[in-house]
Amino acid sequence: HFLRKRIIEAQRVEDSEKLQQTILASISHELRTPLTAILGSAAALDSDLISNPLAKDIVKDIEFNSERLNRVIENLLDMSRLSSGSLALNLEWQDISDLIGVVLKKHAKPLQSHRVEVGLQSELPLVRMDFRLFEHALANLILNAAQYSQPDTKIIIRAYTHEKQLVLEVKDHGAGIPVEFIGQIFEKFYRVPGTLPGGTGLGLSIVKNIVELHRGTILYHKNEPQGSRFIIYLPLEPQPTLPIEEN
Ligand code: ADP
Repeated sequence: HFLRKRIIEAQRVEDSEKLQQTILASISHELRTPLTAILGSAAALDSDLISNPLAKDIVKDIEFNSERLNRVIENLLDMSRLSSGSLALNLEWQDISDLIGVVLKKHAKPLQSHRVEVGLQSELPLVRMDFRLFEHALANLILNAAQYSQPDTKIIIRAYTHEKQLVLEVKDHGAGIPVEFIGQIFEKFYRVPGTLPGGTGLGLSIVKNIVELHRGTILYHKNEPQGSRFIIYLPLEPQPTLPIEEN
């Protein structure tokens, strides 16, 4: 009798988790469509259509906040995909410098108030990864760096190899994370106490999930003299052989 009760309980938890995933996924989809329309309209107005400076500021505000909301929805969607276990990785050989370039271009607006520096080791090896997922992971780290540091401070992105691993670092010069909270930052929905509203606490847990799906690890260190430093380690595999050129 006891066992049966346990099984029914377990089934109930599983069902309610599945239900949560489904609700999360469908709500995110429903939010996305109108938001894409808002972003499109705001971008259209942001051109030379309006000249009044106050109206221009308002449009910028709409754009800024819609982009933020877009990020929240992206995180919710990816979280529901990642936790449902139904996500199939689309692994392809990728160049890390391409990945960094795409992320910086896509998020140029929220990054324009910071000084972004990229340092790449020459002749970096290729990495087999799901480009879209990794783009999301790296964007979360870089946008956090911007969000949690003062304008005009430096954000440094570095990629290099170390002991058969590819190392990808994102450093900022913000307030950093007090040592007593570091242990929890990669947990789902966790936000450091006192953090300004405007986030879900999902970003870093998604990054960790994505990195681990690629058999990698992520660590947090304090940046010296000030700020945060996130380091991703990805195992390097034997490089693909190039097709032999025929004479
Ligand atoms: P969110 O940014 O939506 O709150 P995250 O999972 O991305 O969620 O981050 C969790 C918490 O870790 C944040 O609320 C913030 O307190 C802290 N954090 C993340 N990145 C940084 C950073 N670069 N500098 C300082 N604090 C950070």
